[in-house]
Amino acid sequence: MDSYDAHEVERKWQRVWDDAGAAHVGEPDRSKQKSYVVEMWPYPSGTLHMGHVLVYTVGDVLTRFRRRQGMEVLHPIGFDSFGLPAENAAIREGGHPREITERNIRTIVESMRRMGWAFDWSRLISAHEPTYYVWDQWLFLKLYEAGLAYRKAAPVKWCPKDQAVLANEQVHDGRCEYCGTEVVAKNLEQWFFRTTAYAQELLDELDGLNWAERIKAMQRNWIGRSDGAEIQFRVEELERDVAVFTTRPDTLYGATFFVLAPEHLLVEELAARSPNAEELRAYVQRAGAKRGEERMAAEEKTGVFTGFFATNPVNEARIPIWVADYVLMDYGTGAIMAVPAHDERDRQFAETFDLPIVTVIDEDGKLVDSAQFTGMPADDGKRAIVAWLGERGRGEATISYRLRDWGFSRQRYWGCPIPIVYCDACGTVPVPEEQLPVLLPDIEDYRPRGVAPLASDEEFMNVACPSCGGPARREAETMDTFVDSSWYFLRYTDPHNPDAPWRRDLVDYWNPVDQYIGGVDHTTMHMIYARFFMKALNDLGLIGFREPFAAFFTNGWVNLGGTKMSKSKGNVIGPEQLLEEYGADATRLYILFIGPATEDMEWTDEGVEGMVRFTKRLYRLVSEAAERASRDEPPVNELSRKAHETIARVTDDLGRRQSFHTAISAVIELLNELSRAGVDDPAARFAAETAVSLIQPYAPHLAEELWTALGHERLWEAPWPVADASQLQRDTFELVVQVNGKVRVRFEVEATLPEEELVARALASPKVQHHIDGAQVRKTIVVPRRLVNVVLG
Ligand SMILES: [Zn+2]
Ligand SMILES: [Zn+2]
Repeated sequence: MDSYDAHEVERKWQRVWDDAGAAHVGEPDRSKQKSYVVEMWPYPSGTLHMGHVLVYTVGDVLTRFRRRQGMEVLHPIGFDSFGLPAENAAIREGGHPREITERNIRTIVESMRRMGWAFDWSRLISAHEPTYYVWDQWLFLKLYEAGLAYRKAAPVKWCPKDQAVLANEQVHDGRCEYCGTEVVAKNLEQWFFRTTAYAQELLDELDGLNWAERIKAMQRNWIGRSDGAEIQFRVEELERDVAVFTTRPDTLYGATFFVLAPEHLLVEELAARSPNAEELRAYVQRAGAKRGEERMAAEEKTGVFTGFFATNPVNEARIPIWVADYVLMDYGTGAIMAVPAHDERDRQFAETFDLPIVTVIDEDGKLVDSAQFTGMPADDGKRAIVAWLGERGRGEATISYRLRDWGFSRQRYWGCPIPIVYCDACGTVPVPEEQLPVLLPDIEDYRPRGVAPLASDEEFMNVACPSCGGPARREAETMDTFVDSSWYFLRYTDPHNPDAPWRRDLVDYWNPVDQYIGGVDHTTMHMIYARFFMKALNDLGLIGFREPFAAFFTNGWVNLGGTKMSKSKGNVIGPEQLLEEYGADATRLYILFIGPATEDMEWTDEGVEGMVRFTKRLYRLVSEAAERASRDEPPVNELSRKAHETIARVTDDLGRRQSFHTAISAVIELLNELSRAGVDDPAARFAAETAVSLIQPYAPHLAEELWTALGHERLWEAPWPVADASQLQRDTFELVVQVNGKVRVRFEVEATLPEEELVARALASPKVQHHIDGAQVRKTIVVPRRLVNVVLG
């Protein structure tokens, strides 16, 4: 018997699928249940890495599985080809971003095809193509007309080397994520989307989404709702009120100082009149470069006294105004009343700078030393103080969100031009729809240098004002790549439509995405922005739904030698290398067999070689069964029952549980059973067919080859097998194993096992052993049909 040549078999089936249009989806068949599977589209910044292999294999397995379950499945792909990663790759490699980007896309598409991922290639889109970004511009105009896009001056974090505005998340320890340069603070006119208009809805509608609780918690925290009050403090020297936001108006009598965030617009005004001007400005520069979380968490509190005072509206106390970086502009109003007796960070600051600490809430939670409010419970005190302030026009109850409007303009070349013209006579004028797209010109020197590179392209910049026809200049900044990624899954549904961003019935049929797949690192920004876009587009009457992603699967990291694979650490294995050595099927199988795809995993050569052996064994056993096993109807016996049980397990794993590694284990077990029983077993052919059919989503090439050997054709279209319930005689349940009351592992066991055996299996689990870590097992508690708790003493 010929041994299995993965490369030859894989090439052959990829050609067959292409010719058959196996992954192509045209007008949807609306009689079927639809399933829209989308992995986050990649940056074409180099070649594929193992994280991609994991994400796209998960998506491909679900796609193939759902198709065979009779669903109408759309599984497209595209490239997030504008933006810093692509532009920096171009700068690094030399050459024009367009050439580098398109070359990288060709390379990645080639690898993707070789991996056998069933993307509908007829729907391939890339953000840098004018046929795509014309709709970025069109959507921008719609949002602009609706008042959801606007321009204002705002402080930014600026990388002097990249000459670019950085998002908070792109700054680590005060340094740029891309080049490590120290980041500085800068005030810039920028474009914003009014994401805050939807803050409450973004929060409320999380409840209805099929996302992991921790993912929802990340978004909740990002949106950051607090209920409190806005209170006006008077700054006499400036003859002006400054608003603070506080969740604790009941502690107003305990305010002993006042703090402004370094970015607060008042700071420069105070600095201009302060004897401390130089010290203040230097402090503001340093603080502006740090990340918010670092500032909040810093043990050592820093700050500068401005020399000015604010007057507390309840007791006319004049308290000193400080500037300190533990107060963030992104929270409340960027100014706080500091109550060191009842706030931990305020207390640390007061102790550092020797400021007074005044207790105004006693141990029983009642107000003390608070004039007429003394003796009230804190909650009553809150309401009473806010009401008192309200009557005097000095405060009101309010809700604050941490969510800010989304600054989306970038002083970079490689992005979608913002379709706006500035005219001396007419002001800010949107480019009329019929003049779109505003094409990104090919310019020689696209490198960033403190002004937008497009500003130096006179041909691009000078334009007749669309309103009065007089001389005007274009907006030179480009859009953040997060604009492109906020709606690409809408364009997939009608990717080549020249007249509209999408056909309404198609976009509404396929969306929301039934299964979104990608990294947890995009839970905030990207997935908040996409949700904002859907709500805004729905309000504009352009789509019929308000949420983009009904379900979200987050993948773990792929590590090598204990750390995340990265070029800088030199521990990278690329899929090209794996395709050469092992082929696509073994790579696809192994990346999902290592462990739960949601958790971080450790790649080993031994592991992937184990999968290669499994594919060879599958090939050998099934080929043997194809030649020799009986073609008679299989009887009910041990092997047929095992096959039905495996169908039930794999179906549950790929469906409800989304547990990809356990499904492979189940097929391996079935293969072991077939091997034990031998091809003379009357159920051998059925067992072989079942193993091939169930492994097809993972190893589609090998499965197709063996399916043909078994005398069938087009496995990719064959109905997913259904277990015969009458043969699922073995009753099982999911055993939960705890160590000292904490859940450490769960696995399926037969319901008939005696208690001693349940304990023995629990103790034999490597995860449980890890947590016992050599300690004495004091006792074990068994709850029948449910759990084993291992108590250490
Ligand atoms: Zn930088
Ligand atoms: Zn004009």
